[in-house]
Amino acid sequence: MPRPIRATIDLGALKHNLAVARQHADQGVAGPARLFAVIKANAYGHGMLPVAQALAGLTDGFALLDLSEAAKLREAGIREPILLLEGFFQPEDLEAVAELGIIPAVHRLEQLEAIEAAGLPVKLPVFIKFNTGMHRLGFTAQTWPAAQAFLARSRAIGPVTYMTHFAEADGARGVDWQLERFRAWTAGWQGEVSLANSAALLRHKEAVQGWARPGILLYGGSPFAEVSAEELGLKPVMTLESEILAVQDVAPGERVGYGGIFEATRPSRIGIVACGYADGYPRHAPPGTPILVDGRPTVTAGRVSMDMLFCDLTDLPQAGVGSPVTLWGKGMPADAVAAAAGTISYELFCALAPRVPVRWIGN
Ligand SMILES: *Cc1c(COP(=O)(O)O)cnc(C)c1O
Repeated sequence: MPRPIRATIDLGALKHNLAVARQHADQGVAGPARLFAVIKANAYGHGMLPVAQALAGLTDGFALLDLSEAAKLREAGIREPILLLEGFFQPEDLEAVAELGIIPAVHRLEQLEAIEAAGLPVKLPVFIKFNTGMHRLGFTAQTWPAAQAFLARSRAIGPVTYMTHFAEADGARGVDWQLERFRAWTAGWQGEVSLANSAALLRHKEAVQGWARPGILLYGGSPFAEVSAEELGLKPVMTLESEILAVQDVAPGERVGYGGIFEATRPSRIGIVACGYADGYPRHAPPGTPILVDGRPTVTAGRVSMDMLFCDLTDLPQAGVGSPVTLWGKGMPADAVAAAAGTISYELFCALAPRVPVRWIGN
């Protein structure tokens, strides 16, 4: 028998979450917005190809990072527009970008110059990225005028979409301060725009226009610390499950696991779960992190090791060796586990280790 750990990816839930995104997109300020399903990082750990195939025909496009990933989508017969969120990385890639009909984001003048110099057989559509306050990628008030002048003269660049990315769409500061800068720089712009990530799509109507770029919401994670995925109408897509391998009766005063960071304060039954940080479970999840055993909530105990972790079965007398354990997913929100571990569900999903067998259901 294989080690009992496995991840299940529910493609039906994925499609449901896309439909939630669609409902919000349809309420855009200037009519329905379109959707780029963000499938970077192996679709946030959910498997790029199965996710793209499930969403093909339902989403308006896909957004990812690497040209080789885009090529795989084309090979698999995916026809939707594909956006390269970080643009192309070297001029040699441009021929393939044009041939595969892929749209690069452009965030530096040198990229425009490279497109002009490439002598491509077709005009290349681009997404021009503005840095409106995130200070990661994009043109600024200082660098934009030169790029704008270059664009006005360019004969190699096709349709242009203006794009920016929000830094605090999930927080108190919101998006208006960035939208104001975006509008000032793009004054008079008649073309398309691309603004909203998941948080903006769900919360900031004024940013829902052109092409939205939802990621985490598709995978059933909440972008908000204070609003659950369930409250947003989202369903979990990835469920990570394993089993209890062994049970230890631990006397009060005894400590459990490396570093002894958990000490029993009562006669305790400690379950050993076949899941550790080498499977993608966060090592920094402290004792007390929520976990589901036999369908019932309990908590972890002790430090997460490479291949195993501990949970407290003292109040679950029926649980024992072979009991099913849900680390996150159906019945145990990844957001709750992430919050206890001081991270976000994005990181849990992306960290799912290659050694964990994955099955895709519900397509
Ligand atoms: C990752 C990413 C997104 C998706 O963000 P979510 O918070 O997962 O919705 C959108 N736009 C850009 C530029 C990104 O890098």
